[in-house]
Amino acid sequence: MPNALVTSIEITHVLPCLADPAKIRFHAETSAELTGVLPYLNAVIHGAIYNHAVPALTFNKDYRIISLHPRRITGAKVDDLDDARAILDNLTALINDTWARRAGITPSYERRERLTPVDVFKLLPRTNCRQCGLPTCLAFAVDIASEKRSIIRCAPLFDADSADKRHLLLTLLTDAGYQVPSPFRPTDEAR
Ligand code: SF4
Repeated sequence: MPNALVTSIEITHVLPCLADPAKIRFHAETSAELTGVLPYLNAVIHGAIYNHAVPALTFNKDYRIISLHPRRITGAKVDDLDDARAILDNLTALINDTWARRAGITPSYERRERLTPVDVFKLLPRTNCRQCGLPTCLAFAVDIASEKRSIIRCAPLFDADSADKRHLLLTLLTDAGYQVPSPFRPTDEAR
């Protein structure tokens, strides 16, 4: 595409998926800075979660979780390397098409979607142990999704056994602009 914003996206790391051992996650680097296109993508991707302060745009592609940052794209719950490449090919086309059409798109700087209780529930320990003060993990997930309670109230989530799900959940919450105490926020390197 002439005047394409992104000419290449290179996969730099392929890692085991933290949420599902049968799948992979990847890190990729973009040939161009994406900060300017993120608000336009936020306007055109249904169900995207955008945090302008980070900045980060996260959305689901079926069961996969894709996050865009200024020079980096990450994917989780991805089938395999071929799946990752197909996702990035489609994303390159979407980014360049959106950028080319930006004069006709109203950029959105708002977080348009919250995480759903189900998004949160899937990554909780799901033991209904009540240590958070609520009778079920689903009730806790509802309070987290609506920002009524802090994630640190779920003590079992911070056990070693829950490290993988905790990492993914804290990343999702951080990228979506939820309040996550700074010691628990995933660093860029750890994503
Ligand atoms: S403390 Fe965590 S694992 Fe226990 S019920 Fe609450 S959300 Fe579920």
